Amino acid sequence: QAKSNGRNCSFVFAEQMSSDLANRMQLEAELRQAIEQQQFSLSLQPQVDLISGRLCGFEALLRWQHPQRGMVPPDEFISVLEQAQLMTGVGYWVFERSCQHCVTLIQQGLSQVVIAVNLSADQFLDRNLPENFAAILQKYALNAAHFELELTESTLVSNINETLDVMHRLKALGFAFAIDDFGTGYSSLNYLKRMPVSTIKIDRSFVMGMLDNPADEQIVASTIAMVHKLGLKVVAEGVESLAHLQLLQRYNCDFAQGYYLSRPLPETQLVDFVTNQVLQQKWPASLLP
Ligand code: C2E
Ligand code: MG
Ligand code: MG
Ligand code: MG
Repeated sequence: QAKSNGRNCSFVFAEQMSSDLANRMQLEAELRQAIEQQQFSLSLQPQVDLISGRLCGFEALLRWQHPQRGMVPPDEFISVLEQAQLMTGVGYWVFERSCQHCVTLIQQGLSQVVIAVNLSADQFLDRNLPENFAAILQKYALNAAHFELELTESTLVSNINETLDVMHRLKALGFAFAIDDFGTGYSSLNYLKRMPVSTIKIDRSFVMGMLDNPADEQIVASTIAMVHKLGLKVVAEGVESLAHLQLLQRYNCDFAQGYYLSRPLPETQLVDFVTNQVLQQKWPASLLP
């Protein structure tokens, strides 16, 4: 049976493959247009300090408003930008836009605000990245201390020396680093030891599983303890309920981010969010039992 279908199978496979390729080429062409026509924006997701109960910063998340398909999530297009070698350019746009929002937030009185910006592996292989980021900061008269650059464990897998070199140069400018989606990549502990990072973001899969799955709870608890022993801070992603938040506080997690606290905000809602008195009063109350 399998043998007699062999030819058909591979024919179907080839056809499928070429339609995948066609889709990707279509997407790539649309993304080039998106860059030209400025169809990108950022969403900003609040992060809260679990000790003070206060808003401490935002993560900048890339959004693509497609003319026909509406909002396309980043998991569907960032890998295409990366493969087309377009992510370095878009990454500069993300950083500059984040600077603009940072200026606005400082003007709103958040003098210590920190914006977390995601970087792709390619961006760390761009030898001019540190000088270019420094020039953008200077344009907006901002200090690098307002930014935390996020990278995943997989960023280090290739070209480790080049990546570490760019990281050290960025660190010398005053940028901090966070490891994103911690625990889902390879060789976490080996890289952790070698990288100049100040923060670990526990992947949301562990946080979301924490209430039902004792293994997830133990992973979260022991990751927080280990990270603290290394002198680093911990952010929990994917905090979807008060129960998650309270358990994280019990394990001494430093910062939290998730739908329970706030969904990522469209750029147009940012100022409203920080000036909303109700929210500023409600947050600490619901955070500190
Ligand atoms: P990430 O950096 O781990 O970002 C967190 C993702 O979790 C975001 O998805 C956010 O909307 C989502 N999230 C936040 N809170 C919750 C929650 O409580 N529950 C659940 N289920 N999800 C939550 P988003 O915005 O779709 O971004 C997906 C990924 O795309 C990001 O994951 C990041 O890896 C990548 N990305 C986003 N913006 C950029 C960018 O500017 N540059 C690069 N290189 N990557 C980016
Ligand atoms: Mg991130
Ligand atoms: Mg993450
Ligand atoms: Mg992710």
